[in-house]
Amino acid sequence: MRIALGFDIHRLVKNRELYLGGIKIPYEKGLLGHSDADVVLHAIIDAILSAARLPDIGTLFPDTDPKYKNIRSTELLKKVLKKVSERNLCVDQLDITIICDKPKLSSFYSKIKQTLCELINVSPENIGIKARSTEGLMSEEAIMCFCIAVLKEKNK
Ligand code: MG
Repeated sequence: MRIALGFDIHRLVKNRELYLGGIKIPYEKGLLGHSDADVVLHAIIDAILSAARLPDIGTLFPDTDPKYKNIRSTELLKKVLKKVSERNLCVDQLDITIICDKPKLSSFYSKIKQTLCELINVSPENIGIKARSTEGLMSEEAIMCFCIAVLKEKNK
């Protein structure tokens, strides 16, 4: 069994779509980044890569590479899962904490979870997801995410 922590943060800005956990969330702002800036998928990806002892997301998908400009992070996750699978590993469990003052996310948990289950092939009871506000300390300027990933050997 391999366990690792992933973290990411992106700035909230106007004139961008908001993607979190692989789904589009209706909101007046979105996250700024080279890709779709899905901070939840980025934290998941980094946790998975670290648990598999692979290089981190910035090393594998550099933000200087035009190939990854505005790419959906679901595509990055698929590439990462392929690499992990080649190491005879698969994702067993994820625990996700999103830190976000606005928008309120609780009504999106089930859709995010369903999307992650399908993308990663993990059963719903093995994914934990919740959001916390910073009680205004982050002033709605950013969204951050922590993810703990547990990997196991395939076919075990
Ligand atoms: Mg990122």
